[in-house]
Amino acid sequence: MIERSLFREDHDIWRATVRRFVEEEIVPFHSQWEHDGIVPRELWLKAGEMGLLCCTVPEEYGGLGLDYLFDVVVFEELWRVGASGPGFLIHTDLVATYIRSFGTEEQKRHWLPKMVRGEAIGSLGMTEPHAGSDLKAVRTQAIRDGNDFVVNGQKVFISNGQLCDVVVLATKTDSSAGASGITLFLVESNRPGFARGRNLEKLGMKAQDTSELYFENVRVPSSNMLGGEGQGFGLMMTKLPQERLAQAIRSATVTETVIEWTVDYTAERKAFGQTIADFQNTQFVLADLKARATMARVFTDKCIDLFQRGKLDPVDAAMAKLVTSELHCEAVDKCLQLFGGWGYMWEYPISRAYADARVVKIAGGSVEVMKMIIAREMFKGRLTPRAKRD
Ligand SMILES: Cc1cc2nc3c(=O)[nH]c(=O)nc-3n(C[C@H](O)[C@H](O)[C@H](O)COP(=O)(O)OP(=O)(O)OC[C@H]3O[C@@H](n4cnc5c(N)ncnc54)[C@H](O)[C@@H]3O)c2cc1C
Repeated sequence: MIERSLFREDHDIWRATVRRFVEEEIVPFHSQWEHDGIVPRELWLKAGEMGLLCCTVPEEYGGLGLDYLFDVVVFEELWRVGASGPGFLIHTDLVATYIRSFGTEEQKRHWLPKMVRGEAIGSLGMTEPHAGSDLKAVRTQAIRDGNDFVVNGQKVFISNGQLCDVVVLATKTDSSAGASGITLFLVESNRPGFARGRNLEKLGMKAQDTSELYFENVRVPSSNMLGGEGQGFGLMMTKLPQERLAQAIRSATVTETVIEWTVDYTAERKAFGQTIADFQNTQFVLADLKARATMARVFTDKCIDLFQRGKLDPVDAAMAKLVTSELHCEAVDKCLQLFGGWGYMWEYPISRAYADARVVKIAGGSVEVMKMIIAREMFKGRLTPRAKRD
């Protein structure tokens, strides 16, 4: 078996700490949070106290200044038990990263320490009812008015939407300019005119709050701009490989986990005088998944390594997300099948994993968009420009 070689001893010690936290503070309560449709704020505070949020934020901004693998350990430990409720990944890997990378000194000093402590929860507001995959089509407007911008518009499917204190918001400051008219702002949820819509009912990830957000004449000072005016699209593009890598880490981890659950279950469960594992079909299904899960893990770990060295390109990240998310969905389906009727019962983690999985082929860039990115690179300069096709 190929051993993972990314982690050092300090990462392993950290993993043990995170695992204990997850087992004690999350696993026993997750079912209740699924009923509630949200996790409590206290969990964020406890996670902050333990150092689980935004591990890489430098000490000068209140963080621990650790390497990316410490964040990876947190994500993996959550996915390992199917804890899809806490929206730590969006908060840590996206919102805090945007602020660190593009924020002014003042923005960093204001938000990062609170985000590390779990006192401020972050959301990423890109998707709109009419603009998801095609991000440059966002319509939320930010119109300059003196030293302020006035924001009007609507976002949808926003993770941490009910809990968030700050949103990295994609707006149009020039609605005639397409991608070059997009500007990012940090918008606080206590600004007049900001409203949360309902907590959306989802197929899976039921303990995570996902919401519509409304902006009606929300006045934000120009000092809340993240990056320069008209630079939003370019900034978002630079962070997409990291987002896709995080999705690949999720899918690689869940795939391995559901295979383990299914090996354990089928080795015990009996039918026709033998265990389910004794059927050659069971062995073949699981062996096939195991082989591909190992490939997925090795490739994902390679991408983590490249990312740490600043060398992960968008095509490799797209390949990682494409292959791992498709495998993830196939694995939960095939494993659930081997659980029979029990696999369909919510009390069995495989059932939740099945429901949670479906989003991975859609959010953070659909599998079709991943294929488009890969194909563009393959046919570089050799495809007919859109204008000529139309
Ligand atoms: C649970 C959940 C959480 C989310 N969290 C967030 C969040 O925190 N912040 C945020 O901003 N967004 C979030 N999203 C939104 C997510 O990123 C979008 O759903 C995703 O980008 C797809 O956009 P869309 O839903 O508008 O689908 P559309 O863009 O309407 O696409 C629909 C389908 O059309 C096909 N398609 C689209 N483009 C192409 C193409 N170029 N070629 C071929 N086929 C194509 C694909 O099959 C795609 O699934 C979340 C979504 C979900 C479900």
